[in-house]
Amino acid sequence: MTSGKINVTVENIFPLIKKFLYSDHEIFLRELISNATDATLKLKHLTSIGEASVEYGNPKIEVKIDKEKKTLHIIDQGIGMTGKEVEKYINQVAFSGAEEFLEKYKDSAKDSGIIGHFGLGFYSAFMVANKVEIITKSYKDEPAVHWTCDGSPEFTLEPANKSDRGTEIILHIADDSTEFLEDYKISELLTKYNKFMPVPIKFGTKKEKEGENEIEVDNIVNNPNPAWTKKPSDLNNDDYKKFYRELYPMQFEDPLFHIHLNVDHPFNLTGILYFPKLTGDLNIQKDKIQLYQNQVFVTDNVEGIVPEFLTMLKGVIDSPDIPLNVSRSYLQADGNVKKISNYITRKVADKLKSLFNEDRVAFEEKWNDIKIVLEYGMLSEDKFYEKAKDFALYPTVDNTFYTFEELKEKTKLNQTDKDGKIVLLYASNKDAQHSYIANAKAKGYEVLLLDSPIVSHLIQKLEMDNQDVTFSRVDADSIDNLIKKDENIVSKLSETETTQLKEVIEKTIANNSYTVQTEALDSAAEPFIITQPEFMRRMKE
Ligand code: ADP
Ligand code: MG
Repeated sequence: MTSGKINVTVENIFPLIKKFLYSDHEIFLRELISNATDATLKLKHLTSIGEASVEYGNPKIEVKIDKEKKTLHIIDQGIGMTGKEVEKYINQVAFSGAEEFLEKYKDSAKDSGIIGHFGLGFYSAFMVANKVEIITKSYKDEPAVHWTCDGSPEFTLEPANKSDRGTEIILHIADDSTEFLEDYKISELLTKYNKFMPVPIKFGTKKEKEGENEIEVDNIVNNPNPAWTKKPSDLNNDDYKKFYRELYPMQFEDPLFHIHLNVDHPFNLTGILYFPKLTGDLNIQKDKIQLYQNQVFVTDNVEGIVPEFLTMLKGVIDSPDIPLNVSRSYLQADGNVKKISNYITRKVADKLKSLFNEDRVAFEEKWNDIKIVLEYGMLSEDKFYEKAKDFALYPTVDNTFYTFEELKEKTKLNQTDKDGKIVLLYASNKDAQHSYIANAKAKGYEVLLLDSPIVSHLIQKLEMDNQDVTFSRVDADSIDNLIKKDENIVSKLSETETTQLKEVIEKTIANNSYTVQTEALDSAAEPFIITQPEFMRRMKE
């Protein structure tokens, strides 16, 4: 047996770790399972390239509670460590990581954004344990070792009689942390942080039916192959919906559509974003985009990484290239993070455009559910505005959907002001403004229904961007001053013929609830139109 002293420069680091990370004690489990996962994947790599001559098999990670001994165990079947490696990686590497962390951040404890994100690593175990043991056997043909440390900088290292490869970490849970000896608590943490980690994690057993009999099987808490790690071509619509449920088990409404993200240059990022159906449901506001690093959950606060207008979306982003150990203000200045945010914006715009192009009717049906996000995006991100111009829709009070260009084309002859600008009439409330709407429609004008809360800002933006267009509320008096540009209209009828025709039609329909207009509207092919005010139509319904 050897014993020794960890080379400490910050005297007694453990109480410091504990105090400093007070609010985020629970991340120890994520850190230890990450280490177990790394050790397993390293072995996978070594066996695949022929460096390790052992059977890789179907390794799993086991988490176990011993209530009597007050211990929590994390057991893996990975590469393990030799005695020398424990000295090096635990006493020196892991320690220097913890020390560096404290040095760097002890003054910024208030910036709680960094705390849960930093990979403090192995020593985070001392946030909840007053004694930690490592029993480990390397995949190399060397004896197993047993390391013990009671929270002071002293440690012991002795031979152990473990015969199978891998590492067991034993935490002697401190009296103020006994919640981590409860099944429900560990379950909750495993679900939060490890739900999609790449190695199966066993926590207890469960009963399963096998034909007539019930058998006891491992309770595997994670899905090691979540949808976002697969190729889009291997997934169908139902797979994406299923994964949405997996992410948000309390969410019963299907998402409207998804966007699969996948890029490896100049940064690495995968993920799936969903446009949710915006309901008044409170659950949906709790369900946020989740950020992962190599399938390890980091946070669901993606502020600064995803542009603000897209934070209403759901889904996951997985990227090893997002710096996590830093504050929000640093994030905003980071070049990679800016590129990631731009990439996400572009992908969302491209997806919307292809939905619009492929099935316009379906896109129109979704419009009311997605318009808030889109309109907000158009206002806040110029790059998004440039793309969204082509597919943003403007519905009329009768549910006809125009793009801005279509709308201009439709109204350019019939609704202009004295300066020749197109005047786009809009209502913000169909019921309150119904008689104005009816009046405008009776005159043959298009009336838009723009009722989202930010629409006045959007209108300003559109007017600035389109100098030939001005918006006017349907109940403003400007409606009386609209002019038709008749230069393009060639009526085939003379003035007397027109008057005679009007008389005939009016007599025929003999009902003063209709208006007859003999001026052609936007083409000489229609010598007259008959309109009925909206309120009259409603009265008859
Ligand atoms: P990091 O994981 O960032 O390297 P840690 O403090 O978490 O830092 O771990 C320090 C080192 O200890 C690891 O790099 C690894 O070499 C070793 N280690 C920790 N846990 C295990 C384990 N379960 N199996 C094998 N090696 C481990
Ligand atoms: Mg680690």
